[in-house]
Amino acid sequence: MKLVRFASAALAIAASVMLGGSPFAQDLGPRVKKLADGVYVHTGKGFDSNSGIIITDEGVIVVDTGQNAIESRSVMEAVKKLTSQPVKIVIDTEPHNDHTTGHFVFPQAIVVAAAGGGESMRTANTAAPNRIETARASSAEMKTALDGYRFVPPHVEYRDRMTITLGGRTVELMYMKNVHSEADTAVWLPRERVVFSASAFVVNQVNILRPFVTIPDILAAGKMMKALNPEHVVPGHGTPGTTQIFDDGEKYYALLTQRVDAAMKQGKSLDDIKREVKMPEYASWGSQDRMPTNIEAAYRALGGRI
Ligand SMILES: [Zn+2]
Repeated sequence: MKLVRFASAALAIAASVMLGGSPFAQDLGPRVKKLADGVYVHTGKGFDSNSGIIITDEGVIVVDTGQNAIESRSVMEAVKKLTSQPVKIVIDTEPHNDHTTGHFVFPQAIVVAAAGGGESMRTANTAAPNRIETARASSAEMKTALDGYRFVPPHVEYRDRMTITLGGRTVELMYMKNVHSEADTAVWLPRERVVFSASAFVVNQVNILRPFVTIPDILAAGKMMKALNPEHVVPGHGTPGTTQIFDDGEKYYALLTQRVDAAMKQGKSLDDIKREVKMPEYASWGSQDRMPTNIEAAYRALGGRI
């Protein structure tokens, strides 16, 4: 009896593999990938932000709610296909709109962010009061997706570190200072060896380095996350991968810093350096218009005054 059941289960698995992966693979669509048991990534289109889905016996944790309200609803659809559990917790890897506008799609969730996340969201909201109206006007689909919109800043803000235990899963939140936004969080699942690495490093794209962002802080964050020895790395934007993402970023910043250093030693001004320093090895990366912010950060890291 046992053997028969085993054989038929094996047959069913073999059949589903032949049909293209796990029994759920077709249902979830090509943008949802399983990273570990109960841990999924909903990948953004192009450079749109990624979201994480962590399923537990006591509810679901969502990491970032998507690029916009359409994406948030797509994340919610994926959750519904995976489990009947409600989304209880949303973790923000950063407070920017392209990670947080869709919080209202998860009304039962407690939103958790690093200290400063709420202030960043409120400031951005005040600075662009017509943001949601503009988005509504962009398409009929967006208008529908924004039905019931509410501004939902974090309910809980932590400092430095926080551990969440839900339904037998452990999720560690680690604050990363000065890597991208006012409140960046790495989300680490020690048992599943998955890290959601926020926008400290993005993939195949030049990152925007704001005036408070420093290259040494970015590199320190990469080192910290690499030391966790993750199997999967899910960046805030770009294709999920491995710690290779941190290695590639390190290499890029080392070369950039070396070139800016050489130009500084020739006594060049920052304006000249911004004009002259080129990174042809990375010409295929997106968002090349952000390069001046990268050169400026390298200049600051080398002791240049702005
Ligand atoms: Zn951002």
